[in-house]
Formats: sequence, structure tokens, C-alpha cells
Amino acid sequence: MRIVGVGEEDTEDREEIYVGELSLFQSDLFLCVLFFSNCLLVSQLFINNEWHESCSGRKIPVYNPATEEMLCEVEEADAEDVDKAVRSARAAFQMGSPWRSMDASDRGHLLNRLAELVERDRLLLATLEAMNSGKVFLMAYFVDLMATIKTLRYYGGWADKIHGKTIPVDGEYFTYTRHEPIGVCGQIIPWNFPIMMFVWKIAPALCCGNTVVIKPAEQTPLSALHMAALIKEAGFPPGVVNVVPGYGQTAGSAISHHMDIDKVAFTGSTAVGKLIQKAAGDSNLKRVTLELGGKNPNIVFADCDLEYAVEQAHSGLFFNQGQCCLAGSRVFVERPIYEEFVIRSVERARSKVLGNPLLPGVDQGPQIDQKQFDKIMELIESGKREGATLECGGSAWGQQGLFIQPTVFSNVTDDMRIAKEEIFGPVQQIMCFRSIHEVIQRANSTHYGLAAGVFTNNIDKALTVSSALQAGMVWVNCYNAMSAQCPFGGFKMSGNGRELGEYALREYTEVKAVTIKISQKNS
Ligand code: NAP
Ligand code: MG
Repeated sequence: MRIVGVGEEDTEDREEIYVGELSLFQSDLFLCVLFFSNCLLVSQLFINNEWHESCSGRKIPVYNPATEEMLCEVEEADAEDVDKAVRSARAAFQMGSPWRSMDASDRGHLLNRLAELVERDRLLLATLEAMNSGKVFLMAYFVDLMATIKTLRYYGGWADKIHGKTIPVDGEYFTYTRHEPIGVCGQIIPWNFPIMMFVWKIAPALCCGNTVVIKPAEQTPLSALHMAALIKEAGFPPGVVNVVPGYGQTAGSAISHHMDIDKVAFTGSTAVGKLIQKAAGDSNLKRVTLELGGKNPNIVFADCDLEYAVEQAHSGLFFNQGQCCLAGSRVFVERPIYEEFVIRSVERARSKVLGNPLLPGVDQGPQIDQKQFDKIMELIESGKREGATLECGGSAWGQQGLFIQPTVFSNVTDDMRIAKEEIFGPVQQIMCFRSIHEVIQRANSTHYGLAAGVFTNNIDKALTVSSALQAGMVWVNCYNAMSAQCPFGGFKMSGNGRELGEYALREYTEVKAVTIKISQKNS
């Protein structure tokens, strides 16, 4: 098995690296040393480039979902610690501070330096990510870490290319715009892509000259804390990035309600996204960007390359154990190929290898925690009750860990809960459609609007459907094809604003118009 990160070239060189690392992973001792040496360094709050104990003295237990064993404890931030972090970020943002007076190119240099350090520690970070989130190690190494490094480099390149305009106005005046950083940015991230989300948030914010207070998810603080150590090592001035692991209802809520945070960026559930927006309104009307859930349609026309479409629909749903806001969880298949598509999808799902995500050959790890596991199992039960056909899976897997069998439902109708709710697990719904107009209407009939896929060899169909779909990202004859350059975000209740690409710079800058009266004295 070989896995290629999005946008990464499939070279012979990489295969050698890959084989080398697998042999390392056959040593449990190596893993223990790798993990515990890191853990000793980074279990505290990172504020003002220093490690702090929490004000309350409380700690968060951190688990490995493949074994359900506790890995370690980290300090738990609450409102008082968030206050400390915000004071540090505010001081770093003061005019005249090292960060505010830095040449913009040097900001870019720091981001590039951070990318180099992530590259140096890539094996460690991918291991932490796999152990803490249950992500398949090879995916963490080749997909998540590759995207992390590329995102840092991409925004490193932008840092000295963000500028305003001169604007022709009445000749007595000279007007220009400045694109200034917003200020202190609060950032709240989920557990499904811990390091990638961390960097999607901090990289554009830092590139534009903001300072950051970031809260990783309670389940997955370890890679974020290691990133904090690298941020210090890269040479970012104190206070520019502060990392405060804590719970949503305490630390997260303190960020979203804080009167001295200028902007909040959030990724997670739509329910909490609403709370974040409300908290901004109830406090200081801080700017808000939200990246929320999805119930994404993946439309497969009869004229597609069937084998390829089955594979893309499979990975579009089962990637990361189905814990993906982009998951193509409503697969609409055109009538003439419906039965064949279901048979092949079931075969593909049955071929998955579950197990310890650190082991080679395993391509599905555990779900993140008991709460998510229970939610997924409850939705599977609802699918059976409401009359969908359970083609395979549907139960827990193994003696230990939070594993769920790859599950495929056919004969799913739009009114079933499994067709409407975000499942966030390895559960594929396959529906049948008869006409292009019908499928467009059904695909758009949801409050969400994050992503969509279309498989067809007919260019007219591809263009018609991709124009009609209400979604922030539409993939034609591919799925989950992402890059740091390409904007990411949702229509409707899938969010506000965009991450990645040039578009994200707008979310981290304020536009200031400066107008100067031109003196007439010398004319
Ligand atoms: P969540 O509650 O929305 O968590 C996302 C982040 O928000 C976490 O850091 C969380 O803190 C924080 N948070 C929770 N309540 C908060 C509050 N009142 N104020 C501020 N921050 C708060 O998501 P979840 O419970 O982990 O997962 C539930 C569902 O959300 C999933 O089943 C899935 O449908 C969806 N989800 C979507 C994404 C995505 O990529 N869009 C990612 C994860 C989950 P804690 O550390 O305490 O959780
Ligand atoms: Mg949570």
C-alpha cells in the first residue's frame, strides 16, 4: 500500500523514506521514548513564550482512543488563564512591540522557519497525532503533516505581499488604504485534524501581523503544545502565539465572550458555531469566522468511470474514520448504475483493515471518544429503524478501543435522519436518483453547504451541476482535493468566511482608508 498526500509527487525517493519509517515503527520501545520524551516537555499552558501551570491547578486527562488508556495529563486553562493569555497577546500587539515593528518579510521568514521545524519533527508530530486522535499514522504523516508544512510556507510567502491601494479622489486630497492586522485573535479548534487546524488558524493570522490565543480541543492538545515549543524555537516574540488547552464551556466560552479579543475563528459543530456568534454579539462584536459541519452530496452519473467513482466516494466518506466536515455522506447514484455501485461500495468497505493506527496495513482507526462513538451507533440504529438497508457493518469492532465497522446503507431516503444529520463516522449512505434536475434539488435541500462532488464524463452536466450546487467547494471527478492556495468554507449553515488561499487574508485584516489634504501653499 502506498499513500500520497494531496499535491505531493509520487517519487521513488519518498518510497524509501516510507519504508524506512515503517521499520522504525516495529519497535514499541522507540514509540515509548518518542512519546514520553515529548510529553515531559509539553503538558503546560503556553503563554508569553513560557510554560505555565493552570491557575486552578486542574488538569485534563488525554487518552489514546485505540486503547482507551490515558496517555498523560495536561494543564487545564479556564477563564483566568485565558485572561493571562489575552494580556500577553495584547502586549505583543502594542505599537512599537517587536512584532508590530518587524519587517513584514521577517514575519514570513518566521513562518518558513516554523515550517522547517515541523519538517524536522514530522515523525514525532505524526506519531503524536496518531496516538492522540486515532488517526492512521500514514495519513497523519503524508496528508496532515504535508498540508501543515505547505500551509505554513504558503502564508510565509504572503506576509510581505499584503498591501493596500492608492485611490483617485478629488485632487485636493490623497487617499490610500492600509490592510492592517485586526489585533488579538481567539481561535478555537476541533479534534479531527488537530495539527492541520492549528496551522490553518495561526498561519494566516500571523502572516497578517495579528497575535493569537488558541484553544485546541480537550481530546487532542498534544500536537498543539508541541507546535507551541516550535513557535518559541523558531523565534516568534513572546505573546505572539499563546496556546491554552481547556474545555469549550470554560476556556472556549471565555475566548468568545472576551472584551479584549478582536476576532474569533472557530471550527467545530454548527450548534457551538451559533453560540460563538451570539457571544460575539453579546460582548464586543468581535469579528467572527466559522467553519462548521456539512452533509455533503456526492453525485454520481451513469456516464462516469464507475470503478474510479466508487473508490473516490469511498475515500470521500471513510477518510479519517468519517470524522470529516467534508465527508461525502450523501452519495446520490443515477438509476442505471445504482445496484452495481452499491455492490462495489460494499466490497470496498469490507476490504478495510481496522486496528492500531500506528501499524502498517491498517487503514481505519478508532473514533475519537465514547460520546462520538455513541452518537454514531445511535444514528446507525435510526437508519435501520427508519427502513434503510444495512448492507454491511453496523456494529462495534474488536475487543478494545472505540472502533466501528465500516458501514454502508442503501435504499436511503431523504427524510431519514442518516440522510439529514452529520454522522461524523464511517457510515456511507447511498441514494438513487433519476434526473439531473431532481438530484440538484435534493442535493441542495439541506441547511448545510460545505462541499459537493460530481462524477460524470459529460462536460455540460459537470458545469450545470457545479453551478447549481450551493456549496463552498465543488469537486468534479475527484473528492477532497485540497490545497493551501484554494479557499475553504461553507455556504448557509456550514459557516461564515473562508480559510486558506488569498481569501483568508481578508478575514485577518482591517482595511483603513487614509485621506490627506494636500497643501496648496506652494502652488
Ligand atoms: P464542538 O463541541 O463544536 O467542539 C469544537 C471546539 O469548540 C472544541 O475546541 C470545543 O471544546 C469548543 N467548544 C465547545 N463548546 C464551546 C463553547 N460553548 N464555547 C466555545 N467553544 C466551545 O464539537 P464536538 O463536541 O467535539 O463534536 C460534536 C459534533 O461537531 C461532531 O459530531 C461533528 O458533527 C461536529 N464537528 C465538526 C467539525 C468540523 O470540522 N467542522 C469538527 C469536530 C466536530 P472542547 O474541547 O470542550 O470540546
Ligand atoms: Mg467537545
